[in-house]
Amino acid sequence: MSNASLHGAERRDWHVYKFGGSSVGTPGRLPRVLSLITEAQRPITVVVSALGDTTDWLISAARAAASGDSAGSSAELARVQSLAATIASTVLEGSVLTAQQATVDQLLAPIERLLTGVELTRECTPATLDEVVSVGERISSELVARALTARGVRALAVDARTFLVTDETAGSARVDIEASRAKLAPLVSGWEGVVPIITGFIARSHQGRTTTLGRNGSDYTATLLSWLLGARHVTVWTDVPGVMTADPALVRDAYPVPRMTYAEALELAHFGTRMFHPRTMIPLLESGAALHIRSTTEPQAPGTRIDAEGNPDPHRPTSVTSLERLALIHIESLRPTLSEPLGLRVLQALEAAQVTVWGGTLSALAPSISVVVPQAQAQKAHAVLEAALRAERDRHEVRVPPPHSPVTLVTLVAESMGHRPNVAGRFFHALGNVGVNVRAILQGASSRSVSCAVDAEDTAVAVRTVHSAFNLNETEINVLLVGKGTVGGRLLSQLAENTKTLQARHGVALRLVGVVDSRRALFDPTGIPPAEAGKRLAELSPGSASPPDVVPLLDRLSRLSVPVLVDCTAADGIETLYAAAFRRGIHVVAANKKPLARPWKESEALHALSREQFRAWHYETTVGASLPVIETLKNLVRTGDRVERIEGCFSGSLGYICHALMDGVPLSQAVRTARANGYTEPHPRDDLSGLDVARKALILARELGLELDLEDIAVEPLVPREHLDVEEPEAFLRSLTSLDADVSAQVARYRAAGRNLRYLAQILPHAPGGPRVKVGPVAVDAEHPATGLKGAEALVSFFTDRYREFPLIVRGAGAGGDVTAAGVLADILRLAQNVRGRR
Ligand code: ASP
Ligand code: MG
Repeated sequence: MSNASLHGAERRDWHVYKFGGSSVGTPGRLPRVLSLITEAQRPITVVVSALGDTTDWLISAARAAASGDSAGSSAELARVQSLAATIASTVLEGSVLTAQQATVDQLLAPIERLLTGVELTRECTPATLDEVVSVGERISSELVARALTARGVRALAVDARTFLVTDETAGSARVDIEASRAKLAPLVSGWEGVVPIITGFIARSHQGRTTTLGRNGSDYTATLLSWLLGARHVTVWTDVPGVMTADPALVRDAYPVPRMTYAEALELAHFGTRMFHPRTMIPLLESGAALHIRSTTEPQAPGTRIDAEGNPDPHRPTSVTSLERLALIHIESLRPTLSEPLGLRVLQALEAAQVTVWGGTLSALAPSISVVVPQAQAQKAHAVLEAALRAERDRHEVRVPPPHSPVTLVTLVAESMGHRPNVAGRFFHALGNVGVNVRAILQGASSRSVSCAVDAEDTAVAVRTVHSAFNLNETEINVLLVGKGTVGGRLLSQLAENTKTLQARHGVALRLVGVVDSRRALFDPTGIPPAEAGKRLAELSPGSASPPDVVPLLDRLSRLSVPVLVDCTAADGIETLYAAAFRRGIHVVAANKKPLARPWKESEALHALSREQFRAWHYETTVGASLPVIETLKNLVRTGDRVERIEGCFSGSLGYICHALMDGVPLSQAVRTARANGYTEPHPRDDLSGLDVARKALILARELGLELDLEDIAVEPLVPREHLDVEEPEAFLRSLTSLDADVSAQVARYRAAGRNLRYLAQILPHAPGGPRVKVGPVAVDAEHPATGLKGAEALVSFFTDRYREFPLIVRGAGAGGDVTAAGVLADILRLAQNVRGRR
């Protein structure tokens, strides 16, 4: 019976704790360890690793000795001794400390002699090495037992060699469970009322030689012990808060996975999480005990529980691992069928040459093969394969190009893969979305994982992207804002006000990573508090180039998740920046009409580029600020409605001015106030000339599929053209005074006739002589829908097949920094919905 326990009584109760090298060997942590043991439920056994990096130093000492470097060897041993002394002095004092030092000296003395022998023979056999490194755990168990005893806890240092029996394999011995069980039984009765502090990692062979269980083998000792004792729980205390969803060094938002299955843990061990010794799970699979991973430094955190059941939550977190410093070797077949399947031969050749194969696209059927090997072995592997496939290469049937390196193996371990659709799809989609080039998709992995090889430089972005696609309930959007005038400024305030709510309620983490104005550029990939952005930007000294070069920032932006370029300028020529953004996989949200009003071919090419790159270009605010004008029109067109006519007051600014004029405000004053309220374009001439409305009309007309240009639009300015060429805005405003009297008189006549001055736009896609678009001032009668507009209200009426009798009307505040910024924000948030995809 494999999971029979030693004694019925112990079977119920035993708990096994294991403390790793950093828990016992980092100054200041041992007291925590002692408290955890003291407070633990009884009966308990404790397994300890060597202090800190002791094992590494012992290995170095042996290597140095084998190469005749006795000074080097002694130096490494001195490190071992000194760490042991340092740690001991943190928990022991007086005679007990002296006794501990003496024990360490006694333990090290034979090792020193052994190393002298190694130095003489210039040879350190694996068996000798086992003997040398075994002292690390022995020092550790003596220290912990003594420290507990000093605190009044009855503890006993136990050398696992007294009961763990293995075969003779040095370096990574196989445990003989039955023999071990038989040896443990009599010992356990002596553990009554004491806490045994057991050496991890080490054991003794049938022939009596010291053996080890392989690097990081102490975990394995702990789970073996739980099996032998019939314990239900093993707790591995370490320096991380559990099995993390990703390497926290790469992913800031990584968090501990609360529960997982043995199988998932095995998968992780296979794909590079250094957390587990690969054999740790075997005893657990046999005994069904739960393994808890917890943090010594954060003992209140629940950590990770690994058991047969795992996490029943279908939305459970998944882990992403990355294994770096690998190389990819392609074996390209130039013929559709080869005389014999290559895969097996490739694997055999590599195995014979002792090359580790991390994975590959191996299929007996596929003509070409890729294998992933350690970068350090890449050249050797390549040579081996060239030799093994010489005959085929000579016949020009196979090519083995030089290895591609360095690459990283990125693996998603998802138990849900077997039960839920589209895990692999989302994995690759997420990577593709941020422009990570998948070099090879690895198969042979189980149904619990999916892996691929990516270029080493893409490691961080790949791991982060996959992590957020699968583990975060929130979507992180990274914003680079260009332009911080009226709209940009209000956008910053809205970001400052809404970021928290967005995150809490909608799972969208909006991060401002850059702000650019006409003279300076600020970029910080870790995020800039929006409220401070203005100040931080102002503190920068203007760069030599004015305006600053944004393209290098796009390169950096493109490495972040859901990157967005937000254009709140009214700048000319910015379309080249959009193109650069699209090419880098960056979305564009723009309040700027100009790129949309470029000659038709140019704008169309830009739209095509965004589509080709699967990037969004949202510009809802270009017509009627945040009113849903463009989206409404797109929906009409998409759903096959036939648009007969679009008509209305597209400009909140001109609406405001017309309304003020009708109220008797002089023209120059009305324009000044409109400008002060942030309703006008930076140069109000663009409003008064009708150009801005013409651009809006053009944008809508093009949404209808009309291949029109700005010149095709009949524009009648609000004021006579000759008044429109003053370059400087303030002078322009002054010059308007000369028109005040005329305009007021004109307006008075309209008022007398019961009419209202409005600036209207009209789009007639099916006019008899071809599409017609015109914009200009109109004196509308009381019945006209535009009559009721107040302030900066805008109005767009769609007359279509479906909305023939009663047009579809969009109406509301159509200008102003706040509404426009809100529209920009809404466009940014639409990206979150689009990237989220199915969970
Ligand atoms: N001390 C050994 C090592 O460093 C065993 C362990 O720490 O688990 O590999
Ligand atoms: Mg270790």
